[in-house]
Amino acid sequence: MNTTLITGIGELTTNVGSPADPIRGRGPDLRSDSADASADRDDVSGSGRAGDPCGTMRDAAVLVEGDRIAWVGSPHDAPDADEVVDAEGRAVIPGFVDSHSHLVFGGDRAAEFEARMAGQRYAAGGIRSTVAATRAATDDELRARLRGFLDEMLGQGTTTVEIKSGYGLSVADEERLVRLAAEVTPEVTFLGAHVVPAEYADDSEGYVDLVCGDMLDACAPYSRWIDVFCETGAFTVAQSRRILDAGIARGLRPRLHASQLGPGDGVRLAVELGAASVDHGTYLTDADVAALAASDTVLTLLPGVEFSTRQPYPDARRLIDAGVTVALACDTNPGSSFTSSMPFCVALAVRDMGMTPAEAVWSATAGGARALRRDDVGIIAPGARADLVLLKAPTRIHLAYRPGVPLVDRVWKDGIAVR
Ligand SMILES: [Zn+2]
Repeated sequence: MNTTLITGIGELTTNVGSPADPIRGRGPDLRSDSADASADRDDVSGSGRAGDPCGTMRDAAVLVEGDRIAWVGSPHDAPDADEVVDAEGRAVIPGFVDSHSHLVFGGDRAAEFEARMAGQRYAAGGIRSTVAATRAATDDELRARLRGFLDEMLGQGTTTVEIKSGYGLSVADEERLVRLAAEVTPEVTFLGAHVVPAEYADDSEGYVDLVCGDMLDACAPYSRWIDVFCETGAFTVAQSRRILDAGIARGLRPRLHASQLGPGDGVRLAVELGAASVDHGTYLTDADVAALAASDTVLTLLPGVEFSTRQPYPDARRLIDAGVTVALACDTNPGSSFTSSMPFCVALAVRDMGMTPAEAVWSATAGGARALRRDDVGIIAPGARADLVLLKAPTRIHLAYRPGVPLVDRVWKDGIAVR
């Protein structure tokens, strides 16, 4: 099997070697007391915060064998390899795990964005214009667009991506979208309940019947997850419960969009159903935060949405200090967040949501993996997938410190150098 040794890594983010659940503030403080501890200042514990969520190693090397990581340690003990890459003292992080995206769609909504920036409010109904453009597009057009986005994401260090349907909203079109998504990722989410389509405007219950019946039958074979946009203007909590229950009965796992446009009962529904993740959480009550903290449900923050809709940013500090597991994702979609850049989301999370750089990088890698219930990505450890990013920077802090700058130098996905 082909082996590659990446050596001379100045700062390696492993996301392991910390307590069982470091970001939740349990276990011992792993604050480094080594000679270069001052370099770890972004990791140093504050109130209720664990030491180093990133399991940081200084002066490290990683051996890749086939599609897996075979060994992690000091360059002085490194095994021989077919190929050697010298990181020249720069930082290596796990490939980003973007656990929330809507990449299969036609058209764009640049004019809507321009109007919003001029003062118009964001509402869920804009989704319908993308539905019309998506239905009008051919499979090949959607496929080419989708592959273009994935290439764009890979160039920014994203090696795992979840993709939702939700711009078809008919049995045939939703089937098409999950089928196209399944060509490029195992993390496919059936989101037939994205918005009620225009043809069911006066009969949302009839549309829910369709989603739970023929549409689910057509989409389940291509999907791992089921999701609902549980929000005023989209689906009620009762409808969301019906749809998620129907998906669970078909072997799909639940996740949920909730509390994006205002507070509601969606978060507690997600927790009650054991959802892997509930996403957005822009408006959370104290009861929501307490329910999340006592659960295994990840809260996935999507700061690109607040950026592009000018909504207030949720307070990640409040969540992390309460013991909630937090992930970060892009929510790439043509309406509310048309960025595919995880580094940009990391920068926003640090600048506007109160996360440390270490927490933001953890949430964008290991946090995303938890939101997808995956233990083979988002970490750098023997046995994990060899998904690695070499930065053009000595530390991951630069991802937030130098926003908008292309800092990704090389990317390995499944052990293959793709950049
Ligand atoms: Zn979304």
